[in-house]
Amino acid sequence: MIPYYSLQHISNSFEPALSQAIQQVTQSGWYLQGKENQQFEQAFAEYCGAKYCVGVGNGVDALSLIFMAYQTMGAMNKGDEVIVPANTCIATIVGVLRAGMKPVLCEPTLDTCNIDPTKIEALITNRTCAILPVHLYGRCAEMEQIVEIANRHQLKVIEDCAQAHGAIRHGKRVGNWGDAAGFSFYPSKNLGALGDAGGVVTNNEELAKLVRILANYGSSAKYVHDYMGINSRLDEMQAAILRLKLARLDADNQRRREIAQRYSAGIHNPLIRILSNTVWSDNVFHIYPVFTPERQRLQEFLTSQGVQTLIHYPIPPHQQKAMSEYSALSLPVTEQIHREELSLPMSPLLTDEEVDAVIAAVNRFV
Ligand SMILES: *Cc1c(COP(=O)(O)O)cnc(C)c1O
Repeated sequence: MIPYYSLQHISNSFEPALSQAIQQVTQSGWYLQGKENQQFEQAFAEYCGAKYCVGVGNGVDALSLIFMAYQTMGAMNKGDEVIVPANTCIATIVGVLRAGMKPVLCEPTLDTCNIDPTKIEALITNRTCAILPVHLYGRCAEMEQIVEIANRHQLKVIEDCAQAHGAIRHGKRVGNWGDAAGFSFYPSKNLGALGDAGGVVTNNEELAKLVRILANYGSSAKYVHDYMGINSRLDEMQAAILRLKLARLDADNQRRREIAQRYSAGIHNPLIRILSNTVWSDNVFHIYPVFTPERQRLQEFLTSQGVQTLIHYPIPPHQQKAMSEYSALSLPVTEQIHREELSLPMSPLLTDEEVDAVIAAVNRFV
């Protein structure tokens, strides 16, 4: 069986350094808010080309904390609207809702699966405070157009970078295009911890300070609470693991691109649509999606051929029971993507032979 993404295989490829890093933290006797956090935050901010990174507990908290910090600064209010892509992992939307704001769902384009910039302006009202593009599947959203629309309407741009660590568009890394960005380091992301972890990246010093305070019960000095916050800290163990893995991120992303190029050149099946890519550095291929109206049959066929696949995602957010107030929405592009998407194996550790075996199996599907 060719696995979709073997975390065990990934962890093994970082040994023995991974175990050594863990042991070092274990023996240090210091597990939160220490030098491992400082070093990872500095390294990741530098990597993104941004001034600040604040380690937090997970990706959804990273997004919520950005909105909470803007509320504390008086730049946003509870109940304000945030334009988000309708085609995303539900965590994006949960991040907005948890901060007491209102997600407004915008259709993607079929060719990019990312938010359709031409459909944003029609959704802007006098309560809109921000646009939250997601770089879905690892592919940069159309940031120039999004930033231009935001500037014209004086809106903030908050990037959801949970699937796109290291992606570069026109020389600029994701995390650096808007006012602030949320990252997830969930284990299977391109940069993944061995548990939950997240980060906020920004060039805004006041925002970075407030995120750090709000993530630590609103405390700026020990036992002094000027704000009402939450507990969402990055622990030292995960910070040490992430700093180790960050050193290989560019090489891993480059290997993902090579695999994606091999898939794109090799897949020729009239039943299957792939996304075109003109600028390869734009994309770090967190996911390599293919599309077919016969998804279930394709998935079963590939399983029978020894190829493990996943679906990202089977049910669109607006059709989830948890979001019943959105259920009357008709979002045909989002719904089509959710009906047809299937994700092929994608890991920097896949060999060319494995990739070719996946391509051959996909091309055999009739
Ligand atoms: C994974 C993910 C998140 C949330 O990350 P967690 O660390 O699981 O909270 C948010 N947005 C997108 C697009 C994601 O893929």
